[in-house]
Amino acid sequence: MKDDKNGNIRFIFITGGVMSAVGKGVATASLGKILQFRGFNISVVKIDPYLNVDPGTLNPIEHGECFITEDVWDFTPVHDSDERSYRISEIDQDFGTYSRFLGIEMHPSHNITSGQIYLSTILSERKGKYLGKTVQLIPHVTNLIKERLMEISRSEKLDVLLIECGGTVGDLESSIFLEAFRQIKLEFPKRTALVHVTLVPYSRAVGQQKSKPTQHSVKMLQSMGLQPDIIIGRSEKPLTDDIRAKISLYSNVPEAAVISNPDLKVVYELPILFEEQGLGDFLCELIDLKAKLVSYSEVNNYSEWLKMVNMYKSASKKVRIGMPGKYFNISDSYISINDALEHAAAHQGYTTELKMINITEGTDIEAELKDCDGILLTPGFGTRAVEGMIASAEYAMENKVPFLGICFGAQLFFAAFCRKYLGLKDANSTEINPDTPYPVVDLLRSQKDVTEKGGTMRLGAQRIVIKENTKLYQAYKQNIIFERFRHRYHIQERFITEKAKEFGLVISSRDETGEIINSIELNREDHWMVGTQFHPEFKSRPYAPSKVYYDFINECVKNKNKSR
Ligand code: GLN
Repeated sequence: MKDDKNGNIRFIFITGGVMSAVGKGVATASLGKILQFRGFNISVVKIDPYLNVDPGTLNPIEHGECFITEDVWDFTPVHDSDERSYRISEIDQDFGTYSRFLGIEMHPSHNITSGQIYLSTILSERKGKYLGKTVQLIPHVTNLIKERLMEISRSEKLDVLLIECGGTVGDLESSIFLEAFRQIKLEFPKRTALVHVTLVPYSRAVGQQKSKPTQHSVKMLQSMGLQPDIIIGRSEKPLTDDIRAKISLYSNVPEAAVISNPDLKVVYELPILFEEQGLGDFLCELIDLKAKLVSYSEVNNYSEWLKMVNMYKSASKKVRIGMPGKYFNISDSYISINDALEHAAAHQGYTTELKMINITEGTDIEAELKDCDGILLTPGFGTRAVEGMIASAEYAMENKVPFLGICFGAQLFFAAFCRKYLGLKDANSTEINPDTPYPVVDLLRSQKDVTEKGGTMRLGAQRIVIKENTKLYQAYKQNIIFERFRHRYHIQERFITEKAKEFGLVISSRDETGEIINSIELNREDHWMVGTQFHPEFKSRPYAPSKVYYDFINECVKNKNKSR
């Protein structure tokens, strides 16, 4: 630990208080952004204290989206051993937020889970790495956590590493990570800062913001030997001076370090708000960072960022996108898609209104889609809502509604096409109906012998070869692109018959072997209907929207203006 070989790196730990979902991810990304404004080379680690090795096996409907990285990582639990490795490219959705704010690609090893740490501990013990010792949480598990962080700090030439701990202070499963933070702070007192993001609720009954929950969560931190340096108060409205003074007094942090994080219409504004409150200078002073000479970059420049935020704020016209699928009450299941749509819209002066249609047996698809300017079919797994999604694709074909299908959405677009134009009744994916008479979507060859579920899909960025004179080519204007994948099934070419081509079905891109169809579309002048097996949303950035999403929104806007 003593020698982290990057003797100058600063560590900023971010913890959460009171409850989860207070926007710690956005706060972390915004802290990173204000450091980028000062020219620092930064990156982010997210710790997820659950026992899954990665979030790929979690239900997105309960847990939110899974973010896919460019690289696929071979995670070897025991270093330099013949122990098997695990493929990881599916990581926490907060990495989507980090990437969108910071414009950097993070390696999958930046998402540390308890599952990975304990797997490493136990398998190392079996290998004899701790021979003679009783293997314990402290120091063995904490050492492993610290090693993971030091490895990143050694291999990437960073000025600052931000480390966000998922969950809420006081959770049993995160306490071992907080203990590791305490040890690192003890070792490098001048190079570490602890930022606590907490909820400051507003009591309507007394008409006041309340600091008590924050006081309690700070006490909890203190009982673990951690004193926050900065407190970020999440609240509906900016923190009043009174409440800031109170939080400062009870939490033992200077008033200048109690920062407001109110609800915002445009989340990208948060770094600007942090700057206005002097957080950047306070933080740099705290960990002795001298601002660098900033080489001009559009993404990391304060005034460019401000300009971009103003563009988002002034986009006022609405474009309504129908998203039929299965939903419960979590709005994060497709957050990268929602954001990609928003990016594409803002750059055309629009803001999106997403109509999430939760399909049940009684849903009247036509009635639901009638007032939508475009339809997006989401990625997904499993049977529920599939028939309604296929019907939605048929509705798009019939009514010439601009349509974008992503992954599962593209597969169901193809099933709808086969049913409607080729007369293949009950055409389906074998994932949904293994006995379908027309398996128009079936397992990838590479998936046939796969039995394990975690990290075994076709993952990460892959080379895509685009055919010219297609809508996809019009969007990208390039023959070769890289986009990210996460699937087991794919569209079966043998069903793309002469008749299918006559009805306008076009294969617009393939993988480099030519075997895997990467996208399809309809060859029609008056209707934009595209399905991609890949997920362009993961690379969409607020200042650089995904090209396919941009064209999709452009068509939706045209459709809106035509119909009204
Ligand atoms: N379930 C489909 C498959 O595995 C689609 C996956 C997805 O939409 N990401 O191929």
